[in-house]
Amino acid sequence: MTPKIPLFSAQAVNAAVDLLGPAKRVLDSHWYVLGSEVSEFEREFASYCGVEHCVTTANGTDALELALRVLGVRPIDTVLVAGNAGFYGSTAVRLLGAVPFYVDIDPNCLNMAAENVREALILNPRAIIVTHLYGRLADIEAITEVASKAGVPVIEDCAQAHGAARGGRRAGSFGDIGCFSFYPTKNLGALGDGGAIVCRDESLAARLRQLRQYGWDAKYQVKVPGGRNSRIDEIQAAILREKLPLLDAWNTERRSIAAKYNAAFSDLPLTCPSSLDADYVAHLYVIQVDERDSFRLFLEERGISTDVHYPVPDHLQPGYRASQKKGDVPLTEEACASVVSLPCFPGLRPEQVERVTEAVRLYFHQRGF
Ligand SMILES: *Cc1c(COP(=O)(O)O)cnc(C)c1O
Repeated sequence: MTPKIPLFSAQAVNAAVDLLGPAKRVLDSHWYVLGSEVSEFEREFASYCGVEHCVTTANGTDALELALRVLGVRPIDTVLVAGNAGFYGSTAVRLLGAVPFYVDIDPNCLNMAAENVREALILNPRAIIVTHLYGRLADIEAITEVASKAGVPVIEDCAQAHGAARGGRRAGSFGDIGCFSFYPTKNLGALGDGGAIVCRDESLAARLRQLRQYGWDAKYQVKVPGGRNSRIDEIQAAILREKLPLLDAWNTERRSIAAKYNAAFSDLPLTCPSSLDADYVAHLYVIQVDERDSFRLFLEERGISTDVHYPVPDHLQPGYRASQKKGDVPLTEEACASVVSLPCFPGLRPEQVERVTEAVRLYFHQRGF
């Protein structure tokens, strides 16, 4: 039997990384949480993103929650969010008792559309979370422009977009705040959970440092309300420091796999990612097909893993009641019904890419294309 092609392989990504060296450095230091590895990583990651400050957190969802909190989002405030982005932004909004309003997407890039943001400003939102879904930068320049005219702060959810760039600026440097996750499958992944918030504003960064550690000003002095514990540990920070210098090369490799797929699928009745430029770091290679279930089954039978990111639009998740109903956010719903992710990660070998493209072509060939 031919071996299965996974959707992602931590083993393949980390094969060329020295994991033991950084871990040993931390073990020898006997300092495990918020130490010099963390502060050095924060400095290096802020500089990579092209901003002044980075405050690490325990995970990406905490980063979003603390970002909303530091911007003063209160219960019953409205926050604009995209509804096809896996409920992460919605989770953070709901944690604060605030209310997400789902802005429909641009079907070309599958991110929140600037024009729809402009229209939704009539709701007087307290903040906007712009997710750069699948590693593709949203129309973030246009969104920040309409938002800043209205005085509404913008949070970029960059959890899938480490290093994505347009006009020489990287994800996280466009809005007021950028939030990252270092979950192992992300383009920059730790060996466990981790997250970060980046920003230019010194006072925002200072308050975020307080909020991530009990609201402390100095030790045992609780200065700000709403604090919690959301720290990253030294081993994760040391691993991330080891991996950060490899990020750009990994993103290039991801993008070249995406380019091979795009070229191989150009004459097939499916929709491919619409950018292969620096503004797409191919966190996920996502196509849109009709009859998704039979397509996935066909690949599954040939040992090719696929997944759906994400099948249920946020406003239709059963855990919360949203003010928007089925049909209210049509392009978001259409995307959720048709997207499917194919294997795309650093270390995916050319013959594996070939196997995927051949299987996809065969599927459509058997249906008369
Ligand atoms: C992974 C992810 C998150 C959440 O990050 P965690 O570290 O898992 O909490 C948030 N937003 C997006 C778009 C993500 O992909």
